[in-house]
Amino acid sequence: SLEQGPEGPDTPIQVVLRVRPMSAAELRRGEQSALHCSGTRTLQVSPPGGGPDVAFRFGAVLDGACTQEDVFRACGVRRLGELALRGFSCTVFTFGQTGSGKTYTLTGPPPQGEGVPVPPSLAGIMQRTFAWLLDRVQHLGAPVTLQASYLEIYNEQVRDLLSLGAPRPLPVRWDKTRGFYVEQLRLVEFGSLGALMELLEMGLSRRRSSAHTLNQASSRSHALLTVYIGRQTCQQVPPVDPGEAPVGGKLCFVDLAGSEKVAATGSRGELMLEANSINRSLLALGHCISLLLDPQRKQSHIPFRDSKLTKLLADSLGGRGVTLMVACVSPSAQCLPETLSTLRYASRAQ
Ligand code: ADP
Ligand code: MG
Repeated sequence: SLEQGPEGPDTPIQVVLRVRPMSAAELRRGEQSALHCSGTRTLQVSPPGGGPDVAFRFGAVLDGACTQEDVFRACGVRRLGELALRGFSCTVFTFGQTGSGKTYTLTGPPPQGEGVPVPPSLAGIMQRTFAWLLDRVQHLGAPVTLQASYLEIYNEQVRDLLSLGAPRPLPVRWDKTRGFYVEQLRLVEFGSLGALMELLEMGLSRRRSSAHTLNQASSRSHALLTVYIGRQTCQQVPPVDPGEAPVGGKLCFVDLAGSEKVAATGSRGELMLEANSINRSLLALGHCISLLLDPQRKQSHIPFRDSKLTKLLADSLGGRGVTLMVACVSPSAQCLPETLSTLRYASRAQ
């Protein structure tokens, strides 16, 4: 597991693969699994028409039998949390086609009905990290400042999921001290786990009920929840470099839009524009990551400005940052073309 991984942020991007279980619908249609986990780090892909298996290696591979707790542990999110407390910008993002388990991995299943609580065992990485963080911060026994923001990027427009009034598109700006930031984004101070969970729920229910997801099971927007850790809070945690003045840390969770190709959805017009914007962000993200990882081009210019998503993830991807990518796939042979494109994207990121 990545929990035992290197202590410092010297590996900027780590990749974990999660294969969800076959869904009831896939089983009903008699679909076969094309994926096999061999060992804890290797995935074997069997092409349905026969032919040799293809193997992919990741920091960790989690199969359909893994629980939400297994995923949380294997992702080593606590290590990321520690780094955020020391002033680093840390990001966890899920990547994969619609229906592959991105939202489930980050936030668990949606409630089954009004007032029906989701069992704690199904809570996602976000709820588990928040519980850990609040507990950890409480043990620091010092005044803490924690704030949260929750936004959605849809059609290359930023929408505040915590806004008090009707949300309108907010501009992304840049300045020397703050880097990229969203103008007029609502940052909400919170002091308890319950208060943070309320903010998460508010954003999640706004996402679920927004016009563009109503008639589509698919999610076409990127959602970013960020927890900002105040400088004073960071002062309570031993710095990585003792001479360094503490800066505020950040912990960001990103539920990316589905990575599938437009052709598969048969979209036209408006939907096409949407899909292009989604792909623009995902392509820009892939491009920035590959430049960051290329040792020859380490010093070269990274085109974070190519999309809203990469602007907002710039500090996690470069500089004082650490990024964890959880690539999500379905085991079904029917999904194999999309699964292979997810596996290639994820492989290139490490
Ligand atoms: P995405 O966000 O990638 O579109 P979802 O997270 O919504 O996909 O998952 C699609 C469906 O599969 C949902 O009904 C979800 O509850 C279910 N699901 C996803 N991953 C798992 C899992 N590991 N175990 C059980 N059900 C899952
Ligand atoms: Mg989703």
